[in-house]
Amino acid sequence: MTSKDGYSWTKAQGLRAGVPSIGVIEPPSNVKSTDTVYDVIVVGAGYCGLTAARDASLAGLKVLLLEARDRIGGRSWSSNIEGYPYEMGGTWVYWGQANVWREIARYGMQDELEISYDFSRGINKYLLSTPQGVQSFSHEEEDELMQSSLAKLVNVDGCHGRNVIPFPHSGVLSPEARKYDHMSVADRIAEIKNDLTPNERLCAEAFVLLCSGGTLETTSFYEFLHWWALSGYSYEGCIDYLVKYKFRGGQSSFAIRFFREALASGNLTYSFNSPVATVQHGGEGVQITTRAGKTFRGTKMICAIPLNVLNDVKFEPPLATGRKAAATTGHVNQCVKVHAEISDRDLRSFTGISYPHNGLIYGFGDGETPAGNTHVVAFGGQHNHFHPEENVEHTKAAFEGFAPMSIERLVFHNWSKDEFAKGAWFFPAPGLISTHLKDMRARERDIVFACSDWALGWRSFIDGAIEEGTRAAITVRADFAGRSKL
Ligand code: FAD
Repeated sequence: MTSKDGYSWTKAQGLRAGVPSIGVIEPPSNVKSTDTVYDVIVVGAGYCGLTAARDASLAGLKVLLLEARDRIGGRSWSSNIEGYPYEMGGTWVYWGQANVWREIARYGMQDELEISYDFSRGINKYLLSTPQGVQSFSHEEEDELMQSSLAKLVNVDGCHGRNVIPFPHSGVLSPEARKYDHMSVADRIAEIKNDLTPNERLCAEAFVLLCSGGTLETTSFYEFLHWWALSGYSYEGCIDYLVKYKFRGGQSSFAIRFFREALASGNLTYSFNSPVATVQHGGEGVQITTRAGKTFRGTKMICAIPLNVLNDVKFEPPLATGRKAAATTGHVNQCVKVHAEISDRDLRSFTGISYPHNGLIYGFGDGETPAGNTHVVAFGGQHNHFHPEENVEHTKAAFEGFAPMSIERLVFHNWSKDEFAKGAWFFPAPGLISTHLKDMRARERDIVFACSDWALGWRSFIDGAIEEGTRAAITVRADFAGRSKL
């Protein structure tokens, strides 16, 4: 099945909108009647909404899942092109992420992971490209350089952030943590710039921008510390948790299990291609109307849509002031993630940074395609932001900013122009978390707001989406059991 989402480009076919994905749901709806009053209406079929819909339907509740797109997975989905999965959004998972691993074990997918890197053959180098030229390092030297630069960046307390964030899965920020949340990474770099070598500074800045998809000025230093703490306070941990293990069959092969299990319960009704326009929730229950004018009624609602698009839905009565303010501020991540299939086999073992001049900042060999070509993945963001489909030659040139390469195919999703995401994974500007985390998580009458964007632990990750979907289903189940969890 082909989704409307995503783009591919080849020399032969040019640029094409829409790519194949096993996450596209056919038939797009199994709604039989609009008279039903559902126990709970879940809006959004990303990992959060899928988890909530599954858990609630397995608990015996009558669930309606409404999704704007033609597919499941939201910001995590894969396209299968000629038998090879390209990850359009969320990709890497790790057994240290408790929620995600619980689900991987539930579906018996422990042996369906593979390692992105392959340093066994080819050039086996870390290439650091700047306007001054290209420096080449071994991967051991890369690790030393990254380790030393990040250790300096995070060492605010003499023990690499352990005192500032002793419990990374807690939502309570100490006064010191709040101080760092009001500070940007640019502020922190200014503090330590004399301690960093030029290469350390390049590496630290490029790595932070890989994490935030923003600019150094718009990246909360606390949130970066939070990622560091979640990753076990080490660079090695960051690699293991953030960019190493992915599904051999792509993310959609994981997400589809949630959907199928929910459907098998017999309690799930669903409708794709159904963007929600308005939510009325003043009196008894909720009444939800789609852009096409279809109205659905439910006793409870789980709103599982991202922060950056919350204000595009009209809530009556309006959203609480704090939540509305958070949505108006939004998060800053405008990550540009692009895949290239290239005929240069030696680049399978390259990793690289191309900064500060290039549109794509961080790239590496991510796999081998069925044709025996190398698959390279690369990331840019708000820094030198561009829209890959607008100028394919510019996009190709951004890849060549790492090393000369012969590009056969490009595959990507433009998250910035995506009206149901308006950005990539959540990453906050200074102040958002300390001011609004509580507001984003609060319930409003019969609506539970759940999303990876305001998870406590792996906020911004698939794990956080599952954490939130689990919380939402437990909350709604408790309502039906006659006792509120909140
Ligand atoms: P979403 O996935 O955004 O789901 C929300 C759903 O709501 C969407 O399907 C959307 O279409 C729908 N929706 C929006 N508005 C409406 C409306 N009005 N009506 C109906 N439906 C609506 N995480 C990792 O763990 N590892 C990674 O390697 C990783 N890399 C990433 C790379 C990129 C480029 C991106 C974009 C994300 C990445 N993430 C990664 C983050 C991860 O993808 C997200 O945190 C997670 O998928 C969010 O899940 P969610 O269910 O909370 O939200």
